[in-house]
Amino acid sequence: MSTFKAPKGTYDLLPPDSATFLAVREAIARPLRNSGYGYIETPGFESVELFARGVGESTDIVTKEMYAFETKGGSRLALRPEGTASVLRAALEANLHKAGNLPVKLWYSGSYYRYERPQKGRYRHFSQVGAEAIGAEDPALDAELIILADQAYRSLGLRNFRILLNSLGDKECRPVYRAALQDFLRGLDLDEETLRRAEINPLRVLDDKRPDVQKQLTDAPILRDYLCDACKAYHEEVRELITAAGVSFEDDARLVRGLDYYTRTTFEFVHDGLGAQSAVGGGGRYDGLSEMIGGPALPSVGWALGVDRTVLALEAEGVELPLPSVTSVYAVPLGEEARRVLFAKVTELRKLGISTDFAYGGKGLKGAMKNANRSGARFAIVAGERDLAEGVVQLKDMESGDQAPVGLNEIVAELETRLG
Ligand code: ATP
Ligand code: MG
Repeated sequence: MSTFKAPKGTYDLLPPDSATFLAVREAIARPLRNSGYGYIETPGFESVELFARGVGESTDIVTKEMYAFETKGGSRLALRPEGTASVLRAALEANLHKAGNLPVKLWYSGSYYRYERPQKGRYRHFSQVGAEAIGAEDPALDAELIILADQAYRSLGLRNFRILLNSLGDKECRPVYRAALQDFLRGLDLDEETLRRAEINPLRVLDDKRPDVQKQLTDAPILRDYLCDACKAYHEEVRELITAAGVSFEDDARLVRGLDYYTRTTFEFVHDGLGAQSAVGGGGRYDGLSEMIGGPALPSVGWALGVDRTVLALEAEGVELPLPSVTSVYAVPLGEEARRVLFAKVTELRKLGISTDFAYGGKGLKGAMKNANRSGARFAIVAGERDLAEGVVQLKDMESGDQAPVGLNEIVAELETRLG
């Protein structure tokens, strides 16, 4: 052990578990790549102001969870707590919305940072894969994203997740609802901070996790009763499209999300095996965000799925991903001459795309074979002085244990054939 430990609320991804992590990222990305989404990567930090405006001044993310700092040059920056604001900022900066057909469809994968109280499934550094479809108002686009996330989770073998769906209305109907909700909240027995929140962003009070608050919200007015006809029709169309795709969901009239910029379609993916941190992903439509960060009107929709919690969900369901063994061939040289000869064979095999490893450090046969076993290799090739003198290496099938000499000049072709 060294003097240092991973910072509080973080953890290291180590082999072999890290392979599951990569496979989850890949499984989420695959349906996106297959549906016209292009990969985007943005910096790990941005101007504090971008998040303040793009996530919302009254959100926990901005008020409590942001890693904000001042640079030596006096700029106020923050480690990114989420992806949407950055992706939209980058798309606007590069004029992607002017370059071609709308929507601009982008996907991303990376690390995000929030100063949270660490617990299982809640970390200060975590990983998301996300997708954004920028510049189109079309219920089929909202449906597409929900269907692709469902496909990603199913391709991983997850079953015990649910999709919660709601509409948050738009700039026509939401203000009416907001006022009604505010009236209702003002009559409740709430603490100072919550009352203040009710004035700034009353919808977020619905998201309060505390039981004593939830109890008082039973008779709160619900948004569904206030949706304008356009929002109702839009939402109905989204529901029909995902139903037709065979994706099941639950209407959740109480679902609001932590970010201020959501409009209309809002959804969350929850997994029932995760306890308190049950949300594995979420997203929705954010028609007003572009204007909020100084861009033109660009109605958009997106989601972000948490990789850490998806891995925990796999564990909760006992799903083991079929991860191919990393190494196919393991070479064990016995002596100096064999070392040079086998090392050259290893390089040849690798050039052919066969994953190969080598017993480094001059271990004895026993230790080296133990490592060969641990590597999961299908075959080992072993050579000592006597083998070399006879122009052969020993080819060992690690499954059956069978071993036979193969000519030094034939071994590469032989392995290529056997590994198909
Ligand atoms: P929660 O309600 O659990 O705080 P959230 O609404 O803050 O979640 P989003 O901002 O929607 O989460 O992020 C999308 C996903 O990213 C979440 O569903 C979750 O899987 C993951 N996520 C968010 N915060 C964390 C965190 N601190 N640690 C691990 N994963 C996280
Ligand atoms: Mg949160």
